Amino acid sequence: MDPTLTRGSIAFIGIGSNVGDKIKNCRQAIAEISQLRQNRLISQSSLYKTEPIGYTQQDWFINCVIEIETTFTAYELLHVLEDIEISMGRKRTFKWGPRIIDLDILFFNDETIQCEGLTVPHPEVQRRAFVLAPLCEIAADYTHPLLKKSISQLMAQLGDGGGIEKL
Ligand code: ATP
Ligand code: CA
Ligand code: CA
Repeated sequence: MDPTLTRGSIAFIGIGSNVGDKIKNCRQAIAEISQLRQNRLISQSSLYKTEPIGYTQQDWFINCVIEIETTFTAYELLHVLEDIEISMGRKRTFKWGPRIIDLDILFFNDETIQCEGLTVPHPEVQRRAFVLAPLCEIAADYTHPLLKKSISQLMAQLGDGGGIEKL
């Protein structure tokens, strides 16, 4: 079958690293996600250097966002992302603590999922400049399925993109 005719789901994935060679870690994660035959990389944002939030006594982060087409379900994708995090050496420390790689599902089509272990859209999207700014580059017109506002509207609502710097 003509692969251009097969249509999967659209997922946006937030990527972050603040341990080791952060840029290399983000690039490796993008490569590993893209290499899976179930996934196709559609677009990727610039990399951003960002201040830590939550637990602020830790090194700065590199963040970016990618858009993929995928034939995985949202749950399958979550497990695939967890496997990549573990294979890259991520140790579970504490929420918002330092990490080699963090892969979050930001959006999955326009679905809303609220279950043990998976919340989509990611509940913090609208509060994080380090997610909204890269999303603005690749999906400014995507409408948040719960808030019913575009990414660019959410970015304007959040105000200054303090604590982030595009590389
Ligand atoms: P935050 O979610 O605020 O960005 P975090 O990324 O530091 O925090 P983690 O420790 O990486 O949090 O993940 C905690 C749990 O969040 C994971 O075990 C996963 O099951 C769950 N989770 C819920 N919704 C999502 C999602 N949309 N994407 C990724 N993980 C999710
Ligand atoms: Ca996260
Ligand atoms: Ca995470």
